[in-house]
Amino acid sequence: GTPGGPKVREEKIRVTVRMRPLNTKEQAMYDLIAWDCLDEHTIVFKNPNQERPTTPYTFDKVFAPTCSTHKVYEEGAKDVALSALSGINATIFAYGQTSSGKTFTMRGVTESAIKDIYDYIKNTPERDFILRISALEIYNETVIDLLKRESGPLRLLDDPEKGTIVEKLNEEVAEDRQHLRRLIGICEAQRQVGETALNDKSSRSHQIIRLTVESSLRESSGHVKSYIASLNFVDLAGSERISQTNTCGARMKEGSHINRSLLTLASVIRKLSGGKCGHIPYRDSKLTRILQSSLGGNARTAIICTISPSLSHVEQTRNTLAFATSAK
Ligand code: ADP
Ligand code: MG
Repeated sequence: GTPGGPKVREEKIRVTVRMRPLNTKEQAMYDLIAWDCLDEHTIVFKNPNQERPTTPYTFDKVFAPTCSTHKVYEEGAKDVALSALSGINATIFAYGQTSSGKTFTMRGVTESAIKDIYDYIKNTPERDFILRISALEIYNETVIDLLKRESGPLRLLDDPEKGTIVEKLNEEVAEDRQHLRRLIGICEAQRQVGETALNDKSSRSHQIIRLTVESSLRESSGHVKSYIASLNFVDLAGSERISQTNTCGARMKEGSHINRSLLTLASVIRKLSGGKCGHIPYRDSKLTRILQSSLGGNARTAIICTISPSLSHVEQTRNTLAFATSAK
């Protein structure tokens, strides 16, 4: 178990896959469900045109379309979220193509994590806690404060002790769970700004909500023990931003189609999960610089890969499952 915190499983990177239900538009178009969730670990392409069964994919956990977001949280992210209470940095990502359910999933996961954190705080009167929140968006390698958008683009600085910090990023102390929910509501509203002018903005931008959990415990000896950790909730840009650049040579040259942060993140995650030492290219993008202290090292990561069930999205789904496989 972890001293001074809740008991949690301790794997470094947890990779799960969530398949959403067919939506009404897909149903109206008589789109088909192309995948079978065989059990809680296995997903297989139904292969409607051929007799031969296809090779199944296996993961720590596969969540079928009937699974609630709460179950996804409990089995895909909870342990990682709670490790922040013991002073271990943690990051929870939603990865997948646009419309696969990233935002839907992260919203519910964030809500559940906040509930658990406040329940833990209530049940742990011997420790004093302070929770702070900051939030930012990365769009075209530009960093914007989501708590205080009018601050304009923010710079990243290298601090000798803290590593990369976002200069002038606003941080608010959450007084209680209602206050924290309100602040997250502000971030979500801020993220909508500019959405209509740039109609695929949300598919291109990354959102990070960062909770900083600080606590101190007075031991019987009178010695005070302190803990501090970041817990990052990351709603990534649509993963088609990677595969488009891979599958379509012409687009490689169009800067706007290449999402540097997403590409670098995928490469960082692959290297971390490969367990080799070697060079990890954190510094190649804003997203990975900002998250560096919460990825790799002692930190814990949960990646929830969201996929569409539909036959018309099979290629993107395969790409996501391939990423999930390489991240394990
Ligand atoms: P993304 O953020 O990946 O682009 P969204 O989270 O916005 O996708 O989801 C697209 C649509 O599908 C939204 O209307 C959302 O409410 C719905 N949706 C996504 N996942 C689920 C799910 N598991 N169950 C029901 N509806 C879902
Ligand atoms: Mg979204």
